[in-house]
Amino acid sequence: MGVKPPEYKTRRGFCHADGLIALNWRLVQVPLSVIDYVIVHELTHRSYPHHCREFWAAVRSLLPQK
Ligand SMILES: [Zn+2]
Repeated sequence: MGVKPPEYKTRRGFCHADGLIALNWRLVQVPLSVIDYVIVHELTHRSYPHHCREFWAAVRSLLPQK
């Protein structure tokens, strides 16, 4: 078709304003603990769109060892 999907070399994932969460396919190559972190990170953006103090507190509450 002459088109390529977007290439996200540095982003592990992102959460759109409409709630859609997209994950980088390269996550299949990383340890499960990293995948858990990325998923929790992106799901937390459903409640906190920005990396505010409350966002990080919510992430830490779900993954206290990070
Ligand atoms: Zn983020």
